[in-house]
Amino acid sequence: MSIHAHPDDQEFTVAGTLAKWARGGSDIVTVCITSGEAGSNQFTPPEMTRQALAPIREEEQRNACRVLGIAEVVFLRYEDGVLEPSIALRRDLTRLVRRHRPDAVVCGDPTVRFYGSTYLNHPDHRAAADVALDAVFPSAGTRFIFPELLDEGLDPHHVGTVYIHGGTRPNTFIDIGKTLAVKLAALKEHRSQMGEWDPTAMLTQWAREQGKRRGLDAAEAFRRMVLGGP
Ligand SMILES: [Zn+2]
Repeated sequence: MSIHAHPDDQEFTVAGTLAKWARGGSDIVTVCITSGEAGSNQFTPPEMTRQALAPIREEEQRNACRVLGIAEVVFLRYEDGVLEPSIALRRDLTRLVRRHRPDAVVCGDPTVRFYGSTYLNHPDHRAAADVALDAVFPSAGTRFIFPELLDEGLDPHHVGTVYIHGGTRPNTFIDIGKTLAVKLAALKEHRSQMGEWDPTAMLTQWAREQGKRRGLDAAEAFRRMVLGGP
């Protein structure tokens, strides 16, 4: 289960790994907490509205997932740009974890405030990652957290492994040499956000940097944690 705040977050960060897993036979569920209706300053035309943009971005996310081999996409339709690490969101993500019962959850690193000297991590990214991890532990596996979920027939589920991307201390480097092209193709499906910009050079550079420590041409780096049993 891949959990992110916005359409395109997954494609920028972990799509090479997801495409590789999908090719290996894994069933992947993409969870998009907002529909990305805040758009981008650069490419969202002035006449566009939030209401009109949301379904466009959802469609782009579905298309991107299709390219990656991901059949299932869930939108929670929280408001883009003002996401909070709320208990309501934690309950919603816990419900999805218990329903889909993933072996692994992929999400961002909620502790990263700054990337280099040019990017302040988006508050929605921090909130999404924070709540995703809180849903994995302890909420998904603890019977009496959100007991109302039991009434929905959703028993506790232990997620064995989390893959946290974007952190400063990765311990796992997944070779995406064979799926970088698919990652790029998926990212390009987010047409409303890309304009004429070609992400190939930037993403290829990122993949090279992340692979360097393991002698790989292209990788995605994670902090991988194997969670203890119940
Ligand atoms: Zn984002």
